[in-house]
Amino acid sequence: MFPGYSDAYIEPSSAQDERYSFITEWYDPQAALIRRYQFLYYPKDSSVEMYDIKNRRKFLSRTKFDHVKVEDLYIGSKLSIYSRQLTFVDFGDRFTESKMGNKNEKTLAIVKPDAVSKLGTIINCLKENDIQVCKAKMVQLTRKDAAIFYEEHQSKPFYNPLLDYMTSGPVVAMEIMGSDAVKQWRKLLGPTDSNAAREQEPTSLRAMFGTDNTKNAAHGSDSATSAKREIEFFFPSSGKSKLAGTAKYENCTCCVIKPHAVKSGLIGDILSVIQDAGFAVTDLSMQNIEKANAEEFYEVYKSVVAEYQSMVNELCNGPCVALEITGKDQDTANRFREFCGPADPEIARHLRPKTIRAMFGKDKIQNAVHCTDLPDDGILEVEYFFRILPH
Ligand code: GDP
Ligand code: MG
Repeated sequence: MFPGYSDAYIEPSSAQDERYSFITEWYDPQAALIRRYQFLYYPKDSSVEMYDIKNRRKFLSRTKFDHVKVEDLYIGSKLSIYSRQLTFVDFGDRFTESKMGNKNEKTLAIVKPDAVSKLGTIINCLKENDIQVCKAKMVQLTRKDAAIFYEEHQSKPFYNPLLDYMTSGPVVAMEIMGSDAVKQWRKLLGPTDSNAAREQEPTSLRAMFGTDNTKNAAHGSDSATSAKREIEFFFPSSGKSKLAGTAKYENCTCCVIKPHAVKSGLIGDILSVIQDAGFAVTDLSMQNIEKANAEEFYEVYKSVVAEYQSMVNELCNGPCVALEITGKDQDTANRFREFCGPADPEIARHLRPKTIRAMFGKDKIQNAVHCTDLPDDGILEVEYFFRILPH
C-alpha cells in the first residue's frame, strides 16, 4: 500500500524491543564438534532467539526463558538452554558491545589466607558495589605458584614474607566483573598496608579485615593487563588448572549453593551465615553443571522424589557454588543438615525460621542449598564436586 508507512510502522516497535546479540558456542557431543549460534536476547520479556551461524538458519524461535537475565550475558559466561550449555564467546553486534562492554570489565580478586573466614562479607561487599562474581575457586598455593604470581616483587625486601603468607593457608581466587572493575575493586580494598588503611580509609576491606603490611586480607589486579595475566593464572582458558584444591575429605559434608540463589546474589549472605554459625568452608568452587552430571549426582533421588527432574534442571540452570563444609567431628554432617533446615522452605519458615532454607529458599526446588543427606555420603559428594567433575 504505502511502503513508507509500513516501514514507519515497523521501526518504533523494533526499537522498543531492545535486543542483545552474542556469539555462543555449544559442544555437540554426538557430532564431536563445536556449533556456533547467534544468540539474541530481548530483555523486555526475557526471550531468546537463536540462529545457527554455519547453516544460516533459525535454530530457536523467539521463546521466553524466565531464568535468563541480562546479568547472565557476558563474554565467558555459560548458560543452559534446553539442556545445552552455551558458552558466550563474543558480542554479536556493536550495539551490544557498546551497551555492555564497559559493564563487563574483569579483574582478579584474591581473598588471602587471613580473610577467608570473612569470605561471605567480602562477597557481599562486591554485590553492594554492583560487582559480579563470574568464577571462584579456593586453592592452596605452593611456594612456586606464589613465586610465579608475585614475580614482579622478586627483588623486594617483603618478597619472602609475602610468599610465606600467601602459602600459609587456602586462598579464594575470583574473577569479578563490573564497570571499571579494576579501579573500583582496588578502591574497595584500600591502601596496601592495613594499618595505614585503618587510618586513611577505615571502611575499606584491608582496614576492616587485614592485619598489617603483609597480611592485608585481599588482592586486586593493578591494571587491565595484570588482570588478564592474573585471571589466566587462576582460571586458565585451557580449563586445566594445575593449582591444588583444598578439600580435606574428613569430618566433612557437601553443600551446593543452587543456581537460583547464585543468580539472586545470595552467595555472600549464605556463606556468611554458614561461617558465622562456626562451620568452616574448606573448599569452594563455582561450577556449571552439565545435565548428565546433575542426573548422576541426584541419581539416588530418582525413584524416590517426585521432583527429581526439576531438581536436575535447577542444578544445571546456571553456575552453582559447591562447598566442602568441615567441622570438628563426625557429627558435622548432621549438624550442618539441621542448619540447612527442612527441604521445603515453607515448612522451614514455620518450624525452623533461622535455617538457611527458611531464610533464602523459595520453594522445594529452589530451596537455596543442597546438603548431603546421609553423613556417610559427605565425603563421596565432596569428591564428586572436587575430584570427579572438571573444575
Ligand atoms: P598491592 O597491589 O596493593 O597488593 O601491593 P603490591 O603489589 O605492592 O604488593 C603485593 C603484596 O605484598 C601486598 O598486598 C602485601 O601483601 C605485600 N607488601 C607490599 N608492600 C609491602 C611492604 O612494604 N612490606 C611488607 N611487609 N609487605 C608488603
Ligand atoms: Mg600489586
